[in-house]
Amino acid sequence: MKTYDWIVIGAGIAGTAVAYELVKKGFSVVLLEQNPSFENATRYSYGGLAFWSATTAVTRQLCEEGMARYRLLSQELDADIEFRQLDLLLTIPRDSDPKTVATSYAGCAVPPKLLTREEASEMEPLLNREAIAAALTVKHGHINPKKTAQAYIQAFQRAGGRMEQAQVLKLHPAQRATSRDTKVETTTTTYSSGKVVVCAGGLTRQLLQASGISIPLYFTHAEIIETPPVDVRLRTLVMPACLQRLQLEAEFSKLEEIWNKPTAESIAAILDAGAIQFQDGSLRLGQISRIIPDAGAKVDSLQSERWLRQSIAAILPQLANLPGSWHHCLVAFSHKDFCLPFVGSIPFLAEDIYVFSGFSNPLAIVPSLAEHFANWVSNQEDEVIKQLSSPRQQ
Ligand SMILES: Cc1cc2nc3c(=O)[nH]c(=O)nc-3n(C[C@H](O)[C@H](O)[C@H](O)COP(=O)(O)OP(=O)(O)OC[C@H]3O[C@@H](n4cnc5c(N)ncnc54)[C@H](O)[C@@H]3O)c2cc1C
Repeated sequence: MKTYDWIVIGAGIAGTAVAYELVKKGFSVVLLEQNPSFENATRYSYGGLAFWSATTAVTRQLCEEGMARYRLLSQELDADIEFRQLDLLLTIPRDSDPKTVATSYAGCAVPPKLLTREEASEMEPLLNREAIAAALTVKHGHINPKKTAQAYIQAFQRAGGRMEQAQVLKLHPAQRATSRDTKVETTTTTYSSGKVVVCAGGLTRQLLQASGISIPLYFTHAEIIETPPVDVRLRTLVMPACLQRLQLEAEFSKLEEIWNKPTAESIAAILDAGAIQFQDGSLRLGQISRIIPDAGAKVDSLQSERWLRQSIAAILPQLANLPGSWHHCLVAFSHKDFCLPFVGSIPFLAEDIYVFSGFSNPLAIVPSLAEHFANWVSNQEDEVIKQLSSPRQQ
């Protein structure tokens, strides 16, 4: 039996940032990841950092801290995470009123600016101006999310953390408070620790359920096309101004009953047509989000790829037929009443098991949130974590 102060489950952006911050505090930490090639939501994400989008005091604080942290993160982790600023272009469809859409962003820390479609296509020459009524724009942060998670892992290991490939099957909470006997059962061995933090992204719900713990965390099946490096140049990050994904998440977080019936059928699916080009010239074209309560369900990749290409053709025609392959991952989201992620321990059931998940759009805030989390579990007062964890504990 291997014993640690902390076991971190999942090596996406959440788990790698948390593992690194915990080891920096002097804890002995093991990071367990089941997937040797890190095929997760972090890997397939666009890498956008929406610092401008904060709407509350706590999200403003996290976004400001996040921006400051990202400026120094390549240096601190000693690896290039490709942090930069670019123009975000939020497309407004022909049948929508641009002013009404712009008003829906009025509460953001930096509200995006309304552009005519001529201005939008000047900013992004690949855009099909006939498909839009107008667009919004704002400066957006950007990283390479795969490189960022890898940079965290390497810095974590250099600082003495241990990473192991293991699939966690079940968590066994400590028998007595103050004992160091929380058990984590994997397919090959059992680990023991003082505390566990579950950062399993879209699989968090399934893992907790297998351990007899139920919390309001859900997931979508996300699908994209990834291209190899290509010559065509996309200048901006393009996304719809009215994200259907957010409506889908709000709707299905109210329907607890469907999540408890693990059907493998697609109950609902939307497509938010968007694209981003990475510094190596590769593109991610997305994004389908599906509600299928069975995390292991298979979707029809050929049909999805057709749908993705048709939708991209309408908005960015030159990208629609590029060579590329279809990919799938799970993205977690939390209950509609909580616009913030689920961060905290599980009261009454498992005080030694923490959850750091439920992020549907977390890249801007995860580095600073992980730092707050590590402060908080080191018995330091932390207002941010207090605010994030308290509504769910009532
Ligand atoms: C196409 C797309 C575009 C996106 N764009 C953006 C964006 O621009 N900005 C933004 O902020 N967000 C974006 N997101 C969302 C963001 O990428 C995710 O919310 C985020 O990466 C989730 O990180 P995570 O660490 O919580 O989960 P993940 O990255 O999914 O990592 C979870 C890890 O846990 C592991 N795991 C699960 N169960 C177990 C187990 N039982 N045992 C061991 N390991 C386990 C998994 O293998 C996985 O590696 C996007 C997502 C997608 C799909």
